[in-house]
Amino acid sequence: MSKEFKPLSGREFPRFSGIKTFFRLPIADVNEEFDVAILGIPFDGGVSYRPGARFAPTLVREVSSLGRGFNMARALSIFDKMKVADIGDCPTNPLDLAQTYEKIEKFISSIVNSGKRFVSVGGDHSTTLPVLRALEKKYGKVNFIHFDAHLDTYPAAWGMEFHHGAFARHAVEEGLVNSGKMMQIGIRGPLAGGDDLDFVKKHNVHVATVDDIRKGHLQDFLKTLPEFKGPTYISFDIDCLDPAFAPGTGTPVPGGLTTYEVQQIFRSLKIENLVGADIVEVSPPYDQSQITGMAAVDTLFELLSLMALSKKG
Ligand code: MN
Ligand code: MN
Repeated sequence: MSKEFKPLSGREFPRFSGIKTFFRLPIADVNEEFDVAILGIPFDGGVSYRPGARFAPTLVREVSSLGRGFNMARALSIFDKMKVADIGDCPTNPLDLAQTYEKIEKFISSIVNSGKRFVSVGGDHSTTLPVLRALEKKYGKVNFIHFDAHLDTYPAAWGMEFHHGAFARHAVEEGLVNSGKMMQIGIRGPLAGGDDLDFVKKHNVHVATVDDIRKGHLQDFLKTLPEFKGPTYISFDIDCLDPAFAPGTGTPVPGGLTTYEVQQIFRSLKIENLVGADIVEVSPPYDQSQITGMAAVDTLFELLSLMALSKKG
């Protein structure tokens, strides 16, 4: 019998029952016949402050039990438009960042080399770098849309080059992303120093701060979003949201975006070819009433909607 790649029926198995997978989708091997893989990357060995993101894939699977597949704003039924599966978690080594990077790059390569797109649930933001390395091998430099409170272009910390606050700098320096087609959304202070912005200025990265987004009507900001042609990747650090909307994260910053603003931004993005996306920095031990988990599930839903609308990689 061929697999349906549909969420488990809530009438047959109520939403509190069943084995927890992303959106109650079937578990599949990467080589099976489907379009988009959802995976977990449970690793938080790159954090500088509060840990816990290693537990995010488990939380997001659980909270996504209530996730539904019809996008009302777009009149789009995502699980009718494409076949989506939970392919489980990427192998990691909780004691070694370098080994984990190798495992992530290999795992993501296996997905893209089988002609599929993906959304991953991290993990801290250090996990995005090996994902981008795998994508560059397949597609060359990608366009990069980065939601975050932080620039993540910071220097080495405690003598360590690779950590969650430095991945975007490495992505630019390693030539993994097209920095002229790179956009950061949700950035705000306080910064460590006035020279923190030098890196993005030097590389012509388009930075949309919360002040930029809020200075006029939201609709006016949405009209300024560029179109993205060619292979594009979205990395969504949950801390772009205000701590009121996402308290469960490693380095919260007050004065952030609302979940509604983020939904509107997602629905205004025009992306010709979205090859992959991630949601990172969800830290369940610091969450309250699964608020952050719900924000992550909603983001996952909007990312899948963008994928359903963009052409196949
Ligand atoms: Mn980040
Ligand atoms: Mn951040």
